[in-house]
Amino acid sequence: MSVKIAIEELAGCSGCTIAVLDLHEVLLDVVDKAEIVYSPVIMDVKEPPEGIDIAFVTGAVRNAENQERLEKIRRRAKTLVALGTCACYGGISGLSMLHPNDEIFSYVYREAETVKPDGVIPTDVPPFLYRAFAVGDLTKIDYYITGCPPKEIYLKQIIPALVSGDKLELSRKSVCADCDRKMGPVDNWRLKRRYEGVPDREHCLLGQGYLCLGSVTFGRCAAACPKNNVPCHGCNGPSLDILREPCRDIYSMMVRRIADLTGKPEKEVEKELYDIAHTMYPFTIGSLIMEDKEVSKIRDLVKERSR
Ligand code: SF4
Ligand code: SF4
Ligand code: SF4
Repeated sequence: MSVKIAIEELAGCSGCTIAVLDLHEVLLDVVDKAEIVYSPVIMDVKEPPEGIDIAFVTGAVRNAENQERLEKIRRRAKTLVALGTCACYGGISGLSMLHPNDEIFSYVYREAETVKPDGVIPTDVPPFLYRAFAVGDLTKIDYYITGCPPKEIYLKQIIPALVSGDKLELSRKSVCADCDRKMGPVDNWRLKRRYEGVPDREHCLLGQGYLCLGSVTFGRCAAACPKNNVPCHGCNGPSLDILREPCRDIYSMMVRRIADLTGKPEKEVEKELYDIAHTMYPFTIGSLIMEDKEVSKIRDLVKERSR
């Protein structure tokens, strides 16, 4: 009997589902053993059936419909997998918490360029919840696959293993573990914006002054960005070290890391950091697990910006 698979979409961009389709021939092996019974992005089925074996849920929970759909797929699936950083940590959808709900609706329906400029906010739009949630904040999740979107090198191992019920041992290290840049001398360190100059390709980007979050980010991408001379902005979500330790957080650990690297006092490093919501928490701001950490700045940032 084939394994029944479903893919549910909540508040996200559908990029995670497309990442699964992008597996191409790997999917041919999977479809020998499995059948996709529900996926609104790739087939015209409106409701998930009963008796699903493995359901992947992508996107965060931002409105009442997302919550209802999450509860339904949980009831109907034996195994529920959070697919992608929006589902695991709120992802980009969480950034909406930096604006009041009426400002978001007004921008989308009145200020943004549109072919339907009547400025009427539809009454059938599902109401926003008071905040964004990662799916694990609201229901039991059996497995988490991070990444925005999850990267092919890992998905092609994980999906066949899930379908066959095989155990898989994957690296649990941070992005830095896969990055081969050297730590060079750090003199006169100052934080640089990404558009300032071109980083050298040999030395650690953070040491050069570019805010690279590799040391606080879960490694599920083979350090794709630093290998292409771009600092990591944390799209795989927090490293396991940060996730497990209540007293560790993305911001606090980055401040400590920069202070260790440069010899500057932590207070001085803090003064150099800018737009902390978008630089430190763009993928995790909608996660209660990350917000509830004592040292997290998420609560204050949301309060300050959404007034
Ligand atoms: S994790 Fe990234 S790719 Fe996946 S739904 Fe969210 S924004 Fe899209
Ligand atoms: S901080 Fe960035 S550039 Fe430096 S080693 Fe880590 S991933 Fe590489
Ligand atoms: S290096 Fe960082 S931003 Fe780039 S893909 Fe990996 S986790 Fe995402």
